[in-house]
Amino acid sequence: MNQTNTTQQQPDQTFALVDDISESQAADIFVQARLAKQRLDKLTLDVRLDSVRKLIDYIVQNRDEIIDVLCRETRKSRTDALVSEVLGVLDNFEWLLHNAKSVLKDKKVSTPITLLGKKSRIIHAPLGTVLVIAPWNYPLHIGLTSILAAYVCGNAVVFKPSELTPMQGLFEKLFSIDPILQQSIQVVYGTGVTAQRLIDQKPAKVFFTGSARTGRKILSQCANALIAVDLELGGKDQAIVFEDVNLRRAVKGVIWGALTNAGQSCSSVERVYVQQRIYDEFVEMAQQEIDRLVINSGDAGNADIGGMTADFQLDIVHAQVQDARAKGAHILTGGSPLDENELFYLPTLITNVDSSMSVTKEETFGPLIPIMPFSTEEEVIRLSNDTEFGLSASVWSADLKRANRVARMLECGAVSINNVMLTEGNPGLPFGGTKNSGYGRQKGVEGLLGYTCSKSILIDTNSSKIEPNWYPYTRSKYVLFDRLIAAQFTKSPWKLVKAALIGMKLEGLASKDR
Ligand code: NAD
Repeated sequence: MNQTNTTQQQPDQTFALVDDISESQAADIFVQARLAKQRLDKLTLDVRLDSVRKLIDYIVQNRDEIIDVLCRETRKSRTDALVSEVLGVLDNFEWLLHNAKSVLKDKKVSTPITLLGKKSRIIHAPLGTVLVIAPWNYPLHIGLTSILAAYVCGNAVVFKPSELTPMQGLFEKLFSIDPILQQSIQVVYGTGVTAQRLIDQKPAKVFFTGSARTGRKILSQCANALIAVDLELGGKDQAIVFEDVNLRRAVKGVIWGALTNAGQSCSSVERVYVQQRIYDEFVEMAQQEIDRLVINSGDAGNADIGGMTADFQLDIVHAQVQDARAKGAHILTGGSPLDENELFYLPTLITNVDSSMSVTKEETFGPLIPIMPFSTEEEVIRLSNDTEFGLSASVWSADLKRANRVARMLECGAVSINNVMLTEGNPGLPFGGTKNSGYGRQKGVEGLLGYTCSKSILIDTNSSKIEPNWYPYTRSKYVLFDRLIAAQFTKSPWKLVKAALIGMKLEGLASKDR
C-alpha cells in the first residue's frame, strides 16, 4: 500500500459542530417555506430550469473551490470529489434540463367509451414544502440532486445537511446566484434533533437519505402526522463474478466498487462472490491490485483512496475486521487503520468468511472486501439474496443471458451488468432500494415524479347532460346498468356495439325525472 508524499491537508475537526434550532425557529422556517411556495406557484417551469442552468455554470466555473471544501470536510480523495460529487451533480442537472419538461407536462389519458364526451388528464402538481435530510458520504451530490429535483417540480425546499459535513455557507453561496433559488431553498444546520423539529412542522414530504436506523425513527415520527416519506437507506451490495469473465477487468471493477470513497458509499461492493474455478486467481489479483493503490487525502488528484469521514465509522469497520478475525477469517491485506492518529483505514481483503460474521451481514461503510467462493448460479442467487438489505448489485459474466437472468432474480433496486455502481452513472435510471434499503426512488422519471402529486382532472365538455348514474335511481335504469355490465365484460365481437346501444338507452332515461 502506498502513501504519497503530498502534503496532507487534514480537516481541523472530525465533527463540524453545529447548534440545533429551537422549535420556534423551525416554525419560522416553515412559514418562510410556505410563502416561498406561494411565490413559486406564480412562476413557470422555464424559470425554475433557468436556475438549474445558472447553477451548472456556477459549479463548472467554481469546481476547484467546491472540491476544496468537500475534501476538507470529508477527507475524500480529490478524484472521488471531482467525479462522484461534482460530475455526478452536473449530470443530474443536465438530465433535468433535458427531461423535466416532458416528465412534468400535463398528460392526456384516454377516456373510456362509457364516459363519452369527457376528457381526462393528469397534472403533476408540486407537493408543497419538501424536507430533504442528507448524510455525510456524498454531501454535495445527494444534497443538490434531491434539492434541485424537488425545486424544479415547484416545491419550496428545506434542506438539512449532515452535522458531520455541513459545508457551512457553501449551499447558500450556490443558491445566492439566483434570487428565486435563494428564496425557495433554506439550509438548516443541526443534528437529528433539528431534523425532528423540522418534521414537526409537517412538510408535505420528507426525502431522507441515511441509515436504516434513522430511517425507522423518521418513519415513525412521520406516521403520526401521515407525512409522506421516501427512504434511501444503506446496503450490503454484492458483486457476483462468474468464471467466464475477463478476469483483470472484473478484479479492477470490483476493487474500485468496494473502495471508491473509501467504501463509504451506500452502494459500494460489500460482498464478493466468485465462482470456484477462478476464485484463487481472483483473490491473488485483487491483492495485487490493492497493493498498488495510493491512500491519501489533501491530494492533487493522484490518490486513489481518501480518508474516513467519521471516527465512529472507522471504529465500526475495525470492529467488523476483529469479529471476522476472531471467527476464523483470513485477513489477506490491510486489517487495521493506517496509523493511530489519522482516519485512514487500510483496504482489507478478507477470505474464509461465513454468515456468522458481521462483515457479511451488517452494512460496513468502509474499505473491507470479503470474498466468498460459489459453485452454481442457483447457489449464488440464494446466498446473495440472504440479506436484510436490497440496494444494488453487480453481475459479471460473458454470458449476457445468464447475467440478465441473475439480475432479474436479485432482490434489489439496481443491477449493473459487467460494470459496477454504474446504474447511478445514468441520471435517467431511478435509484433506490428494496427491503431494509428503503423505498421511493431518486433520479430519472420515477424520482422526479416522487416530488409531485399526480392530480387527476376530468373535464366534462357536455355540460347540459344529466348522468344516468345520478338520481333518480329507477328499476329501468337498474336493469339497463345490469345489462351494460353483461355486455361490456363478456367476451363477444359485438360487445362495443351492445354497450353503446344500452348506453344510448340509459342516456334517454337519464334526462327524465321519475
Ligand atoms: P444517519 O442516518 O446517521 O444520518 C443521516 C441524516 O439524518 C443526518 O443529516 C442526521 O442529522 C439525520 N438524523 C439523525 N437522526 C435523525 C432523526 N431522529 N430524525 C431525523 N433525522 C435524523 O446516516 P449517515 O451516517 O449520515 O449516512 C450513512 C448512511 O446513509 C449509510 O447507511 C448509507 O448506506 C446511507 N446512504 C444511503 C444512500 C442511498 O441512496 N440509499 C446514499 C448515501 C448514504
